[in-house]
Amino acid sequence: MKNHLGIHALVWTGSWGSKDIDFAIGSSAKLGFNVIEIPLLNPYKFNAEYTKQVLDFNKIKGVTSLGLSDETDISSEDSVIRENGAKLLGKALEMTYQIGSKYMGGVLYSALKKYDAPPTKNAFHNSVDIIRDLCHKAKKMDIMIGLEPVNRYESNLINTASKALEFIELAECNNLCVHLDSYHMNIEESNYRDPILQCGEKLGYFHIGENHRGYLGRGHINFVEIFSAMKEIDYQGTVTFESFSSSIVDPHLSNALGVWRNLWDDSNDLAKNAKSYMDSII
Ligand code: MN
Repeated sequence: MKNHLGIHALVWTGSWGSKDIDFAIGSSAKLGFNVIEIPLLNPYKFNAEYTKQVLDFNKIKGVTSLGLSDETDISSEDSVIRENGAKLLGKALEMTYQIGSKYMGGVLYSALKKYDAPPTKNAFHNSVDIIRDLCHKAKKMDIMIGLEPVNRYESNLINTASKALEFIELAECNNLCVHLDSYHMNIEESNYRDPILQCGEKLGYFHIGENHRGYLGRGHINFVEIFSAMKEIDYQGTVTFESFSSSIVDPHLSNALGVWRNLWDDSNDLAKNAKSYMDSII
């Protein structure tokens, strides 16, 4: 397999000023990663120009990800909130394009939070309609949009690969793909192989993280099963390592993800370990 290997920027930093940009992108490139995933926590205040300069200088690709909030939830019954969400996604797409990225994914379809009720009757269709528009804009920029199914404590709308596929079928966009994540699959899927096979060519991006989101290889996720299934479908896409610890924090994202524990302090050691683990198994 010759997949691009990526690393999430939150391994290095919880903010995105010039020094963070130099450090996160430089450190990822130095360890041999091909891709860095940059969370667009606030696309309205994102320094795309400098990010692109540093990506190009380090010869590494950037991809972007984000999750929506209560104020921008496109699955909401409230049309003003849906409109805010559509605007935010449009801005995020613009930033993705400006850094020369070909991929934007994450919890783009709902808020990233623990909902206290199941989705409303219209939630799924509300979200599909806005994502369809986003995909049409993205198509002109040659950008792929990814829907990341997350566990039940982080969204009520798409928790499994099959739900993401149902969404894609309704949206009818060929630049919309499934973005799986081993951490969430461990909670919501019956196994790792079946959802990967079910996605087939619709699988466009993959997060690998342990069940505790700490050091790769020190939890109980069955990565052998995951990578065997990827081989079965000849998956050519990016595989990105995602890990979170209370030592590197973005207040909004880390709290939404429930990052309460210190699982590591040394970003470089964690990333180096992940890279050699990925090289040995992929
Ligand atoms: Mn993920």
